[in-house]
Amino acid sequence: MALVVQKFGGTSVGNLERIYAIAKRIAIKHREGLDLVIVVSAMGDTTDELINMAYQIHPNPPSREIDMLLSTGEQVSIALLAIALDRLGIAAISMTGTQVGILTEATHGQARILKIQTERILKHLEQDQVVIVAGFQGTTQSSNGFPEITTLGRGGSDTSAVAIAAALNADACEIYTDVIGILTTDPRAVETAQLIKTISCDEMLELASLGAAVLHPRAVEIARNYGVLLSVRSSWTLSPGTSLVGGYAKHMNNEGLEIGKSVDSAKLIENQAIVRICHLPDIVGITATLFEGLASANVSIDLIAQVNNFNGTVTISFTLADQQLEKACSICRRILNSLKAKDATVIGEGEVSKLSISGVGITSRYGTLARLFEVLAKNNINLRAIATSEVKVSCLIQNKEASKALKAVLHAFELSNCQLYESSSLDDINGSKVKGVALDINQVQISILNVPNHSIVLATICRGLADAFIPIGSMVQLEYRIRSSSLYSRDIILTLYQDDRIKARGILTELLSPWPGVRLEEGSTISRVSAVGVGIRNTPGVAAKMFRSLSIAGINIQMIATSEIRTSCMVDESDGLDALQAVHSCFELGQIT
Ligand code: ASP
Ligand code: MG
Repeated sequence: MALVVQKFGGTSVGNLERIYAIAKRIAIKHREGLDLVIVVSAMGDTTDELINMAYQIHPNPPSREIDMLLSTGEQVSIALLAIALDRLGIAAISMTGTQVGILTEATHGQARILKIQTERILKHLEQDQVVIVAGFQGTTQSSNGFPEITTLGRGGSDTSAVAIAAALNADACEIYTDVIGILTTDPRAVETAQLIKTISCDEMLELASLGAAVLHPRAVEIARNYGVLLSVRSSWTLSPGTSLVGGYAKHMNNEGLEIGKSVDSAKLIENQAIVRICHLPDIVGITATLFEGLASANVSIDLIAQVNNFNGTVTISFTLADQQLEKACSICRRILNSLKAKDATVIGEGEVSKLSISGVGITSRYGTLARLFEVLAKNNINLRAIATSEVKVSCLIQNKEASKALKAVLHAFELSNCQLYESSSLDDINGSKVKGVALDINQVQISILNVPNHSIVLATICRGLADAFIPIGSMVQLEYRIRSSSLYSRDIILTLYQDDRIKARGILTELLSPWPGVRLEEGSTISRVSAVGVGIRNTPGVAAKMFRSLSIAGINIQMIATSEIRTSCMVDESDGLDALQAVHSCFELGQIT
């Protein structure tokens, strides 16, 4: 018999009628013969109300007591749902995280799941009962050996459900919510947002990291890491919603369900090339014109970085396969000539390789980026370009240093050669290149200029920010050859949250003091618009289309940072919403499929 884990969110169990309606849905599935484990959140705004009460009494309530308090929310809804099912004649049993044995780390408020004991759930399923489990909570042993209640962090019931599905090796995990599934963008910002029918876990992680709050990112990570068949659906309709695909059926190991390695593969692609265009005038649309020209000549661009320099010029660099280098350079020169961009220079350089690491939480989990750059710096590997995102980081390095770099990275992240895989089979699911578009507001651009040619500076910056828990949004590096020498100087440009600006300034100023020539510059507040899709790479013209849509809307792009499945453009803060709408419509995401 098929075993399905279903999770119902707070709104879906928001009042007694709704609980009863959900119970009826569950009863039908049970009678159809499914084995069901149901995970529920607390009713409606219960969790917020409980937190509110605690803070009315105490400005800084003890975290153990907060977990005691918050876990009661889910305990109410599981019991009421079991009572409703009993009324419908369905045998059901509700259980707290402690009763099931959802073992977590010994931290309150944000505990990660280590292991789920399945014996008790399985026993009740065998007795043909519906098993109802409290989401968002687990249990740990305190230092004196007694069990303690923990919670997983806000929105954590999704994580409970997917973790239970992984532990039980369930046939499916269905997340029921008050929206129809995952949409192409935030419907409050863009009315025409449409349902995404299928999305890969990697794409979803990029979108979640960009603020699409429908699914808890940790739930998607578990689905990705253990190959759980996950879908997001409406509690009130029968539509199939959004399916998440492309997980890897990894075995549970002893590391702890949520504590596995954050990096799980590395890959090297040789014979790549970089093109650098400097001193480009800052004219709206110039980037679009360049990349349209390249796309119409069928040149496949891989990674793109663009920065508007504080002196009013623009620098662009992009990477591509070595054999297309000459063609690309001559196209760029021709376009720049026709645009009368007399000062612009185009420099192409081949014989580089792209080294990438993939995993989960690469930019949101602190320290992974720093570790990568530290390993490369220690091995004296020069980084010619970088591209970062949630599920992948790529570095361009000299061909001759490539195998040494790969070896060092495999060793540092404890990867074996067999982990050199890539999910290329997922390219172009459903034929659409771009799955969704997201907007991040309140970002700020920090430029670290005139960095000598040491990877160690990059490693130092990333380590310093990671140690201070300051997340990096996007990050690019642009290089310049120092006149009449073979040395390079580079600019590293990051985006951070505006709220972290002052803290970051202090940390960076101190960290960079050993390199007196290095300058720190801060830009104004910006918005970041990102298009996400596994079909973006290797598809000439996708990026150009996005750049053109912004230029048609009269929006100047201040910075571009891409990675394999995400293209981000930073624009003026006040242009953010228009930019989101322009990009959403240029990829025809608002059209019903
Ligand atoms: N009730 C918890 C919260 O509101 C967990 C959840 O709903 O997923 O954050
Ligand atoms: Mg939720």
